[in-house]
Amino acid sequence: MIDTHTHIYDEAFADDADLIVSRALEAGVTHVILPNVDASTVDKMRAFAHKYPTFCSMMMGIHPTEIGENYQTELAVFDAEIQKRADDYVAIGEIGLDLYWDKTYLEQQKRAFEYQVDVAIQLDKPICIHSREAFHEIVDSLKKFSSAKLRGVFHCFTGTPEMAVQIARLGDFYYGIGGPATYKNARFIDQMPQIPLSRILLETDAPYLPPVPHRGKRNEPSYVVYVAQKLAQVYNISLSELEKQVNQNVKTLFFAHHSNIF
Ligand SMILES: [Zn+2]
Repeated sequence: MIDTHTHIYDEAFADDADLIVSRALEAGVTHVILPNVDASTVDKMRAFAHKYPTFCSMMMGIHPTEIGENYQTELAVFDAEIQKRADDYVAIGEIGLDLYWDKTYLEQQKRAFEYQVDVAIQLDKPICIHSREAFHEIVDSLKKFSSAKLRGVFHCFTGTPEMAVQIARLGDFYYGIGGPATYKNARFIDQMPQIPLSRILLETDAPYLPPVPHRGKRNEPSYVVYVAQKLAQVYNISLSELEKQVNQNVKTLFFAHHSNIF
């Protein structure tokens, strides 16, 4: 099983990273993909991936909540990194728009998002999208690009099947499903089988959004198993069937050019 979105290089794991990694391996989580957040997290992420090289892959991007007045400085760091070490990164992420916390920098967020999407297309890499209270704005931005060249994942997807259809028209997109799928009030999960399993990825977004029965605590990659169990249940298939299909999805999206990972 692969946790396609986890921030385990975060301070939250500073004291017990070894334990978290071994717990993941024990639970059958053999690989994780680390999203970058901003200029300050690049070195931390790279150091973590360097320490556990067969366990980690990395993405490079600037998160929308880190886009503000000085967003050009953030993008310069992104640029330098991606130009120098493009092969180190399996995707551009996480990038997107977040209007939940603050709408002040919507214009800057859009510019930074579209700039990074453009780089992804030039480098033929998938994108990992963070969309919070900004679905229509994200769709408007992505419509500016050719759907034949766009591919990636809507991370932490909790939308309706109608939203999934809209997304599918924009390009070759997958849906990252995490802890919220296990929440009691998660209405989207009952409609999930309307989305083909060939489009589903598993993720934790650790240390955030822990699944039931760990709500309110720190999330970690081993907990992705709870998300997988929930999905196997709603798709009415065995856990091993689910695992086989989502592993194939991960390979197709992120590792088509990195066969050595598996
Ligand atoms: Zn994230």
